[in-house]
Amino acid sequence: MNAYERYIAADPKHCRVCKAPFTAGKSAITKEFTGELYAFCSDACIAEFEEDPEKYVQFPDDEVVE
Ligand SMILES: [Zn+2]
Repeated sequence: MNAYERYIAADPKHCRVCKAPFTAGKSAITKEFTGELYAFCSDACIAEFEEDPEKYVQFPDDEVVE
């Protein structure tokens, strides 16, 4: 299990693209890209990720957003 799989397993708290927090009413959508799973809040954010994945593939320091 790599760092990102652990991240997903630990229930990601923020959208990969827009950093919006996932709340009870807004669950994460996960999508695989080059063997890794990423979490998003919406199809729009997935589309943005797919436009320029390089911009988002680095492991996020999401905890900073708290
Ligand atoms: Zn988002």
